[in-house]
Amino acid sequence: MEVIEQVHTIRERVQALRCSGKTIGFVPTMGALHEGHLQLLRASARENDVTVCSIFVNPTQFNNPDDYTLYPRTLTQDTELLQTVGCDILFAPAAAEIYPQQHALLQFSFGPLEAVMEGANRPGHFNGVAIIVSKLFHLVQPHRAYFGQKDLQQVAIVRQLIQGLSFHVQLVCFPTVREEDGLARSSRNTRLSPAQRQAAPSLHKALKMAETQLKHLTVADIKAQVSDLLGQVDGVELEYFEIADPATLQPIADLRDVQEVALCVAAAVGPVRLIDNILVNLNEG
Ligand code: AMP
Repeated sequence: MEVIEQVHTIRERVQALRCSGKTIGFVPTMGALHEGHLQLLRASARENDVTVCSIFVNPTQFNNPDDYTLYPRTLTQDTELLQTVGCDILFAPAAAEIYPQQHALLQFSFGPLEAVMEGANRPGHFNGVAIIVSKLFHLVQPHRAYFGQKDLQQVAIVRQLIQGLSFHVQLVCFPTVREEDGLARSSRNTRLSPAQRQAAPSLHKALKMAETQLKHLTVADIKAQVSDLLGQVDGVELEYFEIADPATLQPIADLRDVQEVALCVAAAVGPVRLIDNILVNLNEG
């Protein structure tokens, strides 16, 4: 596996690959790789001639400076893992390589999509995501780009970004990989204390409980139940729970005649902010 740190080198390398007719699969990550990332990389390796993974803890998408500083960085271990899943090129630039400019960042606007959930609760987050994804798409020029449902709203933002800027890339989305107790795999999980780690699966439990109530209770009552359930777990502070349209991510007020919903939750578990979601088809089961 080739490791590239410079913008000009990745540009040249990708240009040569494109000229020789190779297809490029791309998995953008912030590193501290786990099975959630690895499934995306394996899929890319299966479906493309060349797989590029980027590892870049993107400063512009963090609205909390501690979260940025404490974000796990495990590049040596990540590099070893990448060799086992068929990754061909690791692009791991320094921040100054990606953000050499001193002037203000571009501003994106995603309308209603960023007015809810992560957009509403993390000001500037999706602007940072849009900037880094745009830069990386320009540099890597992938045919296919792989993202996880774990960050459902991010997938919707990237879809809108691809359409809005006419990126010639196919967006591929894979389901959330979980621990045996239901906790969604996340790089941030390594920051949980043993007690917090025990409390963390309550997010998924709350989503599954909400799922069972969709046909019986109103949205307000389901929200109250989720709030009660998580309120009883020590160290867990609910930030939001939403029942949303899976495509637009807009809140659903009335569950009658609804086919499919996204149940989305964000909570602080001790000092670590975690998110999770499940998609539920109300016509099944
Ligand atoms: P991150 O490194 O957290 O920015 O994630 C990089 C990519 O991996 C994003 O598209 C995430 O949605 C995806 N991802 C992270 N965790 C998981 C997971 N548990 N299951 C599926 N995809 C994930």
